[in-house]
Amino acid sequence: MTTGQSMTAAGSSSIGESRLDVEQIRQDFPILGQQVNGKPLVYLDNAATAQKPRVVIDAIQEYYQTYNSNIHRGVHHLSQVATEAYEKARVKAQRLLNASESREIIFVRSTTEAINLVAQTFGRERLQAGDEVVVSAMEHHSNIVPWQMICQEKDARLRVIPINDKGELLLEEYERLLSERTRVVAVTHISNALGTINPIEQMIEMAHQYDAAVLIDGAQGAPHLPLDVQALDCEFYAFSGHKFYGPTGVGVLYGKGDLLDSLPPYQGGGEMILSVSFEETTYNVVPHRFEAGTPNIVGAIALGKAIDYVIHIGLERIAYHEDELFRYATQQLSGLPDLTIIGTADSKASIISFVMDDIHAHDVGTILDQEGVAVRTGHHCAQPVMDRFEVPATSRASFAFYNTKEEVDVLVEGIGKVIEVFK
Ligand code: PMP
Repeated sequence: MTTGQSMTAAGSSSIGESRLDVEQIRQDFPILGQQVNGKPLVYLDNAATAQKPRVVIDAIQEYYQTYNSNIHRGVHHLSQVATEAYEKARVKAQRLLNASESREIIFVRSTTEAINLVAQTFGRERLQAGDEVVVSAMEHHSNIVPWQMICQEKDARLRVIPINDKGELLLEEYERLLSERTRVVAVTHISNALGTINPIEQMIEMAHQYDAAVLIDGAQGAPHLPLDVQALDCEFYAFSGHKFYGPTGVGVLYGKGDLLDSLPPYQGGGEMILSVSFEETTYNVVPHRFEAGTPNIVGAIALGKAIDYVIHIGLERIAYHEDELFRYATQQLSGLPDLTIIGTADSKASIISFVMDDIHAHDVGTILDQEGVAVRTGHHCAQPVMDRFEVPATSRASFAFYNTKEEVDVLVEGIGKVIEVFK
């Protein structure tokens, strides 16, 4: 198995020469130093949520201790400081994604809310009976259900790109699904259940030939791959702060500026209006039109700190380190008896899902937990993927740039214990 695409993302071999000092980096994450069940914590559940560096934790405390205030409406000092910090965070997200304008960044609650926002604005306005929305068979529930809901409402049809036994999208089937009826293509950048990196550049280009808008679910993509939404040319890109080393309760929706301008509001309330009377309300400009009510101010600010931190380390170096780790883990796990990796795409990143003969994933997870190893077990909110591979659940190890080969070795030893217990 190779990870061709993430290697491309990591760039030339010179990046490998300036390796990450992982031991140093780990000092930035206070949570990683603890013991669980009497063993050093080995945190391999990064696809569910990533740990937070001290700069993020400190930013939260600093906000509440020194400038907690509501934003945008206040003339007083604290409100101005908070507003400035919040809007600076927007610019940081803009730079991370290489969006052309900061107003193209909308702060939302999470990837889930970002996708619901697009379904309930773009989808509600543009979908008509008989239109089609294309998703893939490897989507997280949050990139299926919002589309299903709006399709039902509009009498539109949800079409699904199938996947092969390796967990790769069948591009010829995708091509066949696209037509003048396709209004939206909503596809994940990296599958949270399989680790597959999808060829989104090509998929976006193909969708545009039919004037379909493309939403990329970047929940797993943004933390692991360098991004450029202008080069990708997608209409929407969504990610969650908490998987990007930031806090929960905040996420980012990127949308092309002109497109956002043309969309109706998502939720009504304060901040998203210019004027309100009982006869008529006029709506605010983008991005404020989509940020009704008091937003997660501290969340956005702390996410901005996480973005600074990640950019400082370098997404290319991160991709390189994670790729090495991922290859090592794949090699080690592939050698184990009774273990089958689910998802063996040629292009993969940071996620290894596996099943063990006659041993339920929850038992695997419980025994690993006794060894201090945190992995996720279950359907990973991707039940169609479980159905496709005819498994009830998988165990999933997912890596971040603070993980080490030694931790992979602890995982492998832990799986050895699982085999001992059950065989
Ligand atoms: N899409 C993918 C690919 C994910 O992995 C996740 C989280 N597991 C989500 C969407 C939803 O993210 P959140 O729960 O932060 O909204």
